[in-house]
Amino acid sequence: MKVIKFGGSSLATGVQVAKAVSIINADVERRVIVTSAPGKRTPTDVKVTDLLIQYAQQVIAHHETDKIVMQILTRYQAISDYFELNTAVMTALTNRLCALTTKSFTDQDYLLAAFKAQGELLNAILLTAILNQQGIPAKFVDPQTVGFLVSGTPNDASVLPATYANLASWQLPANVRIVFPGFFGYSQTGDISTFARGGSDITGAILSRGLRADLYENFTDVDAIFTVDTRIVSHPAMIAKMSYREMRELSYAGFSVFQDEAIIPAIQGQIPVNVKNTNNPTAPGTLIVPEQFLFNPANPITGIACSDRFSALYLHRYLLNKEVGFTLKLLEIFQKYGLSYEHMPSGIDDLTIIFDQRKLDPPTIHHLCRDIRTTLHPDYLEWIDDYAIIMVVGEGIAHTIDTMGKIIDSLTQNNIAIHMINQGASRISIMIGTQRKDAPAAVRHIYDTFFVKSEV
Ligand code: ASP
Repeated sequence: MKVIKFGGSSLATGVQVAKAVSIINADVERRVIVTSAPGKRTPTDVKVTDLLIQYAQQVIAHHETDKIVMQILTRYQAISDYFELNTAVMTALTNRLCALTTKSFTDQDYLLAAFKAQGELLNAILLTAILNQQGIPAKFVDPQTVGFLVSGTPNDASVLPATYANLASWQLPANVRIVFPGFFGYSQTGDISTFARGGSDITGAILSRGLRADLYENFTDVDAIFTVDTRIVSHPAMIAKMSYREMRELSYAGFSVFQDEAIIPAIQGQIPVNVKNTNNPTAPGTLIVPEQFLFNPANPITGIACSDRFSALYLHRYLLNKEVGFTLKLLEIFQKYGLSYEHMPSGIDDLTIIFDQRKLDPPTIHHLCRDIRTTLHPDYLEWIDDYAIIMVVGEGIAHTIDTMGKIIDSLTQNNIAIHMINQGASRISIMIGTQRKDAPAAVRHIYDTFFVKSEV
């Protein structure tokens, strides 16, 4: 049995939905289908999820909502018109969307979550109607009816372990496809909560694990995952197969195929994930599998990711290595500001702490540096904002001895200063810190060292 998830661009128009329908029809094993909300049709288009956020904001502000509701419904109407669906379907969607304003919510965060979730929910109802009309028996399933439970904040929820027990006892009906909306679940008190943005991938991964699927197929709009960002290297090599942990390291450092934590449930359930293209479904795509299936990769490097969303705090103090409790006091200061850090490479007299810039604002940085100065008296403190991290990832790194040397050579020969270099204990990734301005060139040089020469 396969769980199959379609991304927003794959369900954005009637033409795209028709492609999804034939993909579903092509394989009877594709029994559970996860929807996203209609995504962008053109680069300047607005995703339905973003329109729903505007709708929620206008309701909160007691503003007129007719226009935004119309804008949202037009997106579904266009798909419905393409398939010449019975008008009853659009009436049902309209009623659901309008009824939202009459419901009461615990607070504004829950209101926002419930509005946002409608994008995938309405698309699931619509897709169910389309499949049935096309002679493919299908059933819409609301996450609440199967105990798809989440906890945490309403707009950044996490799955509850009870969900897996509930899914394990769900008897999938035979000969009918299940259409399941992505992106949200229900709290134990019955309130809708969504995952972080891009969270339909998480729903697919949770269902794959809970239903013990043989494969989780994730349909998007690219033929495969590329070895490097196509904005940095044009026409790079594609990745045919990679391990879960390679995917996780690469998405952490900027690969945008999946949201960072999206496939963790699939990893926990050891379910292979196949990223495929809705526009070219016969292409094999990229298969993401447990590492034990990948002991002999042809190239030590599977991918190179780069992200400049980092800031670094550099601290220098003589005899730091002999000082007991320095790091503890530092961590206490971070805790005081509710801050987590990403990495902390250290030397004998110095320490660099790397933060995700998105978790910081200028007043916090100011207070943090002030507290560190007064509590720890460093000889030197510098806040570095133009920090980029390049992640060179590959299961094969552990099996070669010259990978690190080749990376360093490729950068130094091209006059790129390395500010930090770090290889984790798992030996599947090498992390390199550079100045932001140097990062794209650094990625290109590393790419050219390990892959066929690129056209820039
Ligand atoms: N529609 C949601 C978003 O735009 C979730 C998803 O697409 O996966 O973030």
